[in-house]
Amino acid sequence: MKLTELTIHELSEKLKRRELSSRELTGAYLSLIDAVDKKIHAYLTVCGESALKEADAADKRLVSGADVTPLTGIPLAIKDIFCTKGIKTTCASRMLENFIPPYDATVVKKLKDAGAVILGKLNMDEFAMGSSTENSAFFKTLNPWDTTRVPGGSSGGSAAAVAAGECAASIGTDTGGSIRQPASCCGVVGLKPTYGRVSRYGMIAFASSLDQGGPITKDVRDSSVMLNAMAGHDPLDSTSIDAPAEDYTGGLKHGIRGLKIGIPKEYFIEGLDKDVERAIGSAIGVFKNEGCGIVDVSLPHTEYATGVYYLVATAEASSNLARYDGVKYGLRVSSEGLLDMYKLTRDRGFGGEVKRRIMLGTYSLSAGYYEAYYKKASQVRTIIKRDFEEAFKKCDIILTPTSPTPAFKIGEKIADPLTMYLSDIFTISCNLAGIPGISIPCGFTPDNLPVGLQLLGKPLGEATLLKAAYAYEQTTGWHKRRPQL
Ligand code: GLN
Repeated sequence: MKLTELTIHELSEKLKRRELSSRELTGAYLSLIDAVDKKIHAYLTVCGESALKEADAADKRLVSGADVTPLTGIPLAIKDIFCTKGIKTTCASRMLENFIPPYDATVVKKLKDAGAVILGKLNMDEFAMGSSTENSAFFKTLNPWDTTRVPGGSSGGSAAAVAAGECAASIGTDTGGSIRQPASCCGVVGLKPTYGRVSRYGMIAFASSLDQGGPITKDVRDSSVMLNAMAGHDPLDSTSIDAPAEDYTGGLKHGIRGLKIGIPKEYFIEGLDKDVERAIGSAIGVFKNEGCGIVDVSLPHTEYATGVYYLVATAEASSNLARYDGVKYGLRVSSEGLLDMYKLTRDRGFGGEVKRRIMLGTYSLSAGYYEAYYKKASQVRTIIKRDFEEAFKKCDIILTPTSPTPAFKIGEKIADPLTMYLSDIFTISCNLAGIPGISIPCGFTPDNLPVGLQLLGKPLGEATLLKAAYAYEQTTGWHKRRPQL
């Protein structure tokens, strides 16, 4: 196998045994990016020079043996929504096209402190609004399994880069599915932690009560390794949970016999692709064979989740994005008066989808409409959260498809925002409830497109999710397939 096809835990062994240096490994990734990214377009920025410097520093650490972590010397890539000190952070928007942050996001700092090498910044939907990465202001990322298809979104660059072997793992963000849905489309593992488990400091805000960063990896073990490094309380993020650190890798092999898996009937709907339904059906069989109890559960308010999400998320976005006014930072389009400067800047700086969301959000927050829309949505959100609390009285984890269809064709849904919004019907409730969710590969369609299985857990139940996902992965091996590029 090529070096760039190995997982973090495999590479880390080689680095520790000094069979391989981080410089060689980083060089291998940079050459692969050079050869392959012409086809995939996952990277917005490649940081070759600084990556090699970081690799040298990691090699020193590895030689001395002091302060070596499972990520020391491992080349990673970062969704362009996380601030990176001295490296352009655009959020795939014209608004931030030339923005160079003076600081690192907490998560980036943690990965760097662990000794990881940062290869570059990955493409996404502008301000993380979308499900296909077609909303990037710069270019579209293509799916490594079939380059006529989207990689999912909004963390499409993060999922495609991992699938194509252009980094050992990446990080993304998930507000309504943006880690899990692209992971599903690209045949990789995507984990959205419990809201507050991973710091949002330095992560450009879309909808602050929903946003959460997490890892995209080649397998479940790597997901646990990344989460170990990323999770933890951060005084710089007031919503970060002050819970003790956990070792997510230690519990992977604890076994799942007797684990109760809930199947919510509301997730097996008309419009669910036949191949997806079949793959999920076999996955349920696998868990049964492993000695899990399969129980029927109900999440009765699921049908309202998409509506609630698009009220809450757009309202929060309209207020978060008010800061891009041409004054503080980012793009400024000068004009005669101040008001014209605001208008021109926001007109040229934001793309169509971002403008649509700002308008929807501003409308639903405005006097007279607030009670009918935003407030109502917040109330229904609480009811959706309660649905999960009830369901989790009967089971330990909930199993669903990640997405109703495999990766769709480029351009297929872009003209119809509502159809696009439906790509997230299975992932959105998890963000509204603040619970953790993971997507893992669970099969392929006859056209060789990956299908994703979603597992949802109780608040702070990441260890249980990872254990179940690991057991599934070990018996099935779907995660070992790689696209032919
Ligand atoms: N696709 C959803 C949206 O467009 C989710 C995005 C996300 O999770 N960032 O809002």
